[in-house]
Amino acid sequence: MPELPEVETIRRGLEPALISQKIISTRFFVRKLRWDIVASNFDNYVNQKSITSLSRRGKYIIIHLDNEAAVVIHLGMSGRLGLFEQTAIVEKHTHVIFYLENGMELRFRDPRRFGSIEVAPPHLISSYPRFAHLGVEPLSNNFNPQYLKKKTEKSDRGIKLVIMDAKIVVGVGNIYANESLFYSRIDPRRRAKSLSVKEIKALEKSLKTVLNTAIEKGGTTLNDFRNAYGEPGFFQLELAVYGRADLPCPECGTPIQKTVLGGRSTFFCPNCQN
Ligand code: ZN
Repeated sequence: MPELPEVETIRRGLEPALISQKIISTRFFVRKLRWDIVASNFDNYVNQKSITSLSRRGKYIIIHLDNEAAVVIHLGMSGRLGLFEQTAIVEKHTHVIFYLENGMELRFRDPRRFGSIEVAPPHLISSYPRFAHLGVEPLSNNFNPQYLKKKTEKSDRGIKLVIMDAKIVVGVGNIYANESLFYSRIDPRRRAKSLSVKEIKALEKSLKTVLNTAIEKGGTTLNDFRNAYGEPGFFQLELAVYGRADLPCPECGTPIQKTVLGGRSTFFCPNCQN
């Protein structure tokens, strides 16, 4: 599943090519994605409008238009959003094509159909209902030690589950949770409220570093991840603990241990993390 760094990488890759482009028309090959596509919204608010910017909220990519409407896209489990020449073969599972004024095509492809494409009518993106329950952005100033302390100090939950809770902070998937707990030397099984202020600061910092590093590297964690130009990312080569059960810890050489927390694979160094 694309995580926050992959989505941000796609956003950054697409934005320069899409700014100022007019969407001439939109074609749907299927209308049943995670939520049904409402074609009339595209006629009313998207077609013949120009793109002003691309932003991201959690794992949603938002295409802003010059009428203040927006297209809100979620890649789901297997979605891809890419820019193609008209002559490029339309791959199987391509569900939506945006035809751009310069002849390029923005295509949404999603074999498993857990993704979504919706339209926020003009001026409604700031109160968009699907964003209502999302926590703070991990790379923003709203995610800071004070905030994380407030969310952990009374919590009996495991710290890993807390940082993966999208109502608290968005976009921290399993891989990044494992990695950031390793770099902040915190055992993922610890109760959230047992963390010291020093540990909270270290965790906040390492989460930002891990996410930023993944974005800088072209952001990926997934074998089948492709950026906006269809190129793979390489972040998986540098993971310290995730997927490395029984391999030596990069810091101390102790074999990495694997367990399951909240139904998700959890990797840690029993020597470095406590
Ligand atoms: Zn270690």
